[in-house]
Amino acid sequence: QIKAQIMDANAMRRSVTRMAHEVLERNRGLDGVVLVGIRTRGAVLAERMADKMRDIEGMRPPVFALDPRPYRDDLGAGQGSRVPVPGLDIHDKIVVLVDDVLYTGRTVRAALDALMCTGRARWVQLAALIDRGHRELPIRADFVGKNVPTSREESIHVHLDEVDGEDGVWIVDQ
Ligand code: 5GP
Ligand code: MG
Repeated sequence: QIKAQIMDANAMRRSVTRMAHEVLERNRGLDGVVLVGIRTRGAVLAERMADKMRDIEGMRPPVFALDPRPYRDDLGAGQGSRVPVPGLDIHDKIVVLVDDVLYTGRTVRAALDALMCTGRARWVQLAALIDRGHRELPIRADFVGKNVPTSREESIHVHLDEVDGEDGVWIVDQ
């Protein structure tokens, strides 16, 4: 049951562009910056942000995809293997975690756990396309595409062209 469209393709592109600018501004460029996208759609958004940064800065940061599910404390812990991301070295790096939707914060907590297993970053920052509120942990995003107040009964549908064949964000009554 779709309630409303929150973002169309143009709005998403502008948000990704702005977040790319904000990451560059916060870190005075791309020196030491690594983007780590959280599983499916966060990883796609990280690639888009990296493309933008290349357009803006003439240099593309490394992008990695992280699946934090084996590190979740509440979804049948122990499922899946706890394998660090191949090739990812975060030592002394500025890691920008990227996800599509930030909700309770438990996925980001798990992603931090996974990151910590691979080394000691200099700084970890968080970018989320949508912050829908209802945090259950002391976690906040440094870069937000759009704050969308939701009820717990609603959910956000994020469609990305690379995965879903179209770009858009909708709020849905589940
Ligand atoms: P959290 O762990 O913060 O509760 O939820 C965030 C993770 O679950 C993200 O990886 C996100 O993709 C997914 N998620 C949580 N709520 C929603 C939602 O309403 N819509 C979408 N598309 N993903 C969500
Ligand atoms: Mg996700």
